[in-house]
Amino acid sequence: MKYDRCLSKGTIIPLLFMVLLSPAGCSGDSGNGSEPIPDAVALDIPALYSRVDTISVLVIYEPDAEPFTGSAQPGTTYWSVLRSNIASLFEGRTIEPDIYVPSDLSEMERISDQGQETWTADDIIALARTVWDGNLSDFAVEFPVFFLNGYFENEEGTNYQIIGVSIIGTPVIAVFKDVVLSSSSMTQISRFVEQATLVHEFGHVMGLVNNGVPMTSDHLDPEHPRHCTNERCVMFWQNEGASDMMLFVQQMIDEGSVIMFGNECLEDTRSYRP
Ligand SMILES: [Zn+2]
Ligand SMILES: [Zn+2]
Repeated sequence: MKYDRCLSKGTIIPLLFMVLLSPAGCSGDSGNGSEPIPDAVALDIPALYSRVDTISVLVIYEPDAEPFTGSAQPGTTYWSVLRSNIASLFEGRTIEPDIYVPSDLSEMERISDQGQETWTADDIIALARTVWDGNLSDFAVEFPVFFLNGYFENEEGTNYQIIGVSIIGTPVIAVFKDVVLSSSSMTQISRFVEQATLVHEFGHVMGLVNNGVPMTSDHLDPEHPRHCTNERCVMFWQNEGASDMMLFVQQMIDEGSVIMFGNECLEDTRSYRP
């Protein structure tokens, strides 16, 4: 199973996009001897950009791994950050899908504690198969986002730095809440890190960078597949340093914009004609 294990935290760094270790040329969805992705959890990128008119985010969480909810300021929920960023990818397209993102725990789905200390990509897909009905059609797509206890595990072992992963070829995203909580002692920063993680992973599952949606300009980081060379873009592999993060937040507030994608990435999805 291929995955994008990109979003991680540093020791004093709230947001750090880790280098992908899977080689760029690695192909197929069934790497590492795992099963091929069944149709029920496969995502059709061309359909997403040609026929889909409804996008929903389904948030599924374990006890003690609840997402942050509430409002950054009156009238602006934290989850509106993700909603606005998904919408930004489709701005100006013939079809601008209706986008449904929950903002309150009552709109999210709680599952029982899965009792796992670590999660492989296969474990995450297995969970998705169990608790999610693969709500995909040509016109409506649902993206399941799992908030989990424990840590991501790959062939190198357990990684205590990875905040979020996306399973390549599927709409499945997972966030490791223990890592979010340890990313910063400042709650406000952690909330932002959580939303930025989601935006980054959604960027991947929606085809960035050169991950299903072709590029309109050369902004693929040769060292870090599926990541952007623009350091001010959420798809940059590494946003290094607490001060940079504060600048990033401050810039968003100053500009009255929460859009985290850089123009190069936005141009790719907005002009994609499958
Ligand atoms: Zn990434
Ligand atoms: Zn970008």
